[in-house]
Amino acid sequence: MKIICIGRNYADHAKELKNEVPKSPVFFLKPDTALLKNNTPFFIPNHTQNVHHELEVVVKINRLGKHIEERFAHKYYNEITVGIDFTARDVQEDCKKKGLPWEIAKAFDGSAPLGKFIDVETLDPRNLSFTLEKNGSVQQDGNTSDMLFNIDQIIAYISKFMTLKIGDLIYTGTPAGVSQVVKGDVLVGKLEGQQLISCKVL
Ligand code: ZN
Repeated sequence: MKIICIGRNYADHAKELKNEVPKSPVFFLKPDTALLKNNTPFFIPNHTQNVHHELEVVVKINRLGKHIEERFAHKYYNEITVGIDFTARDVQEDCKKKGLPWEIAKAFDGSAPLGKFIDVETLDPRNLSFTLEKNGSVQQDGNTSDMLFNIDQIIAYISKFMTLKIGDLIYTGTPAGVSQVVKGDVLVGKLEGQQLISCKVL
C-alpha cells in the first residue's frame, strides 16, 4: 500500500507558510513504515529540531482504479478518519531552498499517525469539521468545505498518474494552525466532534 499526501490544500495554511495557492493538487508519498496505528506514541526523530503537526482528513481506497472520473470518485472510498502528517519543518525549509525532494522532512518512520476509521455513509465528505487539540486546547480547526480541491477531485487527479489500490491512504491536506510539537505533548484529533486519534509525543 501507499500513502499519498496532498500539500497546500487549504488557502489559510498555504498562506501561513507563505506558499502560493496551487492551480492543481500537489501531492507526495510516504512509505508504509511512516504509519502509526492504534494511538501508538510518536518519537521525535533526531535529525530535526522542529517537528510540526498537520492534522488531515484521511480516506482509505477500497477499489482498484486508474483514470477515475471525478463523478465516480466517491465510489472509491467508504471509510474516513483523521491522521497527522508530521513534518520536520526545518528540514523541509532546507529541502525547498535547495530544490530537493521532501522525503527526509515528510516520510520518516512514524510520520503518519492514523486514526480509527469510521463509515463515510452517514457523513458529507464536503462538509466535515475536524480539530486538533494539543494538550487540551484547540490548535487546528478545519472544515473540508475549505479544501481547494475536494476529495473527489483529488482522487481523480492522483489516479491520472498512479493506480490507486485497495488499502491506499490519502491524507488530504491540513488547515492553518500547524505548530511545533515537543516531548510530552498529547495530540487529539477529532472528526465531527468524535475523537478518532490520540498521539503522545515522546
Ligand atoms: Zn500535510
